[in-house]
Amino acid sequence: MKRIVILTGAGISAESGVKTFRGSNGLWNNYRIEEVASPIAWERDPKLVLEFYNQRRKQLFEVNPNAGHKALVKLEKKFNVKIITQNVDDLHERAGSENILHLHGELKKARSTVDSGLVYELKDWPLNIGDKCEQGSQLRPHIVWFGEAVPAIMDAIQIVKRADIFIVIGTSMVVYPAAGLINYVSDETPKYLIDPNAEEVSGIRNLTIIRKKAGEGVPELVEELLGLGKL
Ligand code: NAD
Repeated sequence: MKRIVILTGAGISAESGVKTFRGSNGLWNNYRIEEVASPIAWERDPKLVLEFYNQRRKQLFEVNPNAGHKALVKLEKKFNVKIITQNVDDLHERAGSENILHLHGELKKARSTVDSGLVYELKDWPLNIGDKCEQGSQLRPHIVWFGEAVPAIMDAIQIVKRADIFIVIGTSMVVYPAAGLINYVSDETPKYLIDPNAEEVSGIRNLTIIRKKAGEGVPELVEELLGLGKL
């Protein structure tokens, strides 16, 4: 079976009603990123950080996967599919995709502040000051903040290197190290980029740019790859 590797970003969830990151002047849902998504922010004001992620998590319980997430599931009929996502939402999981690597953590999980191996599923949206791990330390969002290492990146590189087809959907490709993953894909591998605002990309061979929203562009590409459509 051929291997398809898919790198997704906030854009694939935009049509579900989840705001992208850089959509509005570098503000993420009216917050300055450095106020809420960094270890310094957590040290300075953990309550504000928890509130920010609580709002994101509450919203996540209210939205659903869209046509883009759902179309990717169909690829599993014919291909070995691996999704590497920068998203912290669970919309790929809820659409039914099997094989998902979260590079930047998961909104519906919390983890210990003394032992990063202690990760807990959150059944409901609020995580509060005073919520503790089994060792008695405050729980934090299970999110990779700006300035923190991305533990899953080495696994992601190994996956990307073996791609027979590589698809990038809805990412501005400015957050590293995720943005560098495309450089590990072999020159010969066909690559597709689906993003309505995609700019020209230089130095990447065999790249087809599809300037459409995920809800339209992904189902079309999937049909094409399954040998059904005409692109
Ligand atoms: P980004 O906001 O920097 O870029 C989003 C990209 O999506 C843009 O290039 C935009 O043109 C494109 N886009 C907008 N609407 C689209 C649509 N309907 N279909 C396809 N593409 C569309 O996001 P990023 O590159 O993923 O980086 C932001 C970081 O912030 C991520 O690492 C992630 O952890 C976090 N984030 C996650 C979510 C989420 O989980 N849904 C949402 C916002 C931010």
